[in-house]
Amino acid sequence: MRKISTLILILLSAYCFSQTPKRVNIDKRLVEYVEDYIDQAQERGFYVRGLIVKRIDYIYIIDSIGTDERDHTQIIGSVGNDRRGFVIAEEVLKDTILTRVTVYHEIGHILAKSSKHVVRDKYHIMSSTHPEDDNILRDKIIMNGLIDEYFKWLSQNYKE
Ligand SMILES: [Zn+2]
Repeated sequence: MRKISTLILILLSAYCFSQTPKRVNIDKRLVEYVEDYIDQAQERGFYVRGLIVKRIDYIYIIDSIGTDERDHTQIIGSVGNDRRGFVIAEEVLKDTILTRVTVYHEIGHILAKSSKHVVRDKYHIMSSTHPEDDNILRDKIIMNGLIDEYFKWLSQNYKE
């Protein structure tokens, strides 16, 4: 039975992929983060793989994005002017937590079709700045709570 169900699963997934009309160009260093995003969404009842393929064309890493003119902070992630993808500064990759949060943040802007941020909570994934003291984000339970909050925010802010 096990072999049969595996075969069906393989046939089914092959079928699904052939039905996908387009691909998302993702820097290979970020694929695991996007897969994590899709898994975390699914754990909370949201099925976003198709949505990501539909709404996002590219996810790239670039040397540097630049600094914010207003407060001179480093920009670590940015949605493209065409709003069809986003870039992340290479520096970010040194820190897996920062990379994870940045991927979630930029996908949030695209799916909400908005550049708005959450201001009431500096640890919110959709806050405009990454907190300087981000050690608490290394706590799995805290991070899981922040991801809960993020998907709650997304379900309220998502735009077709
Ligand atoms: Zn932002």
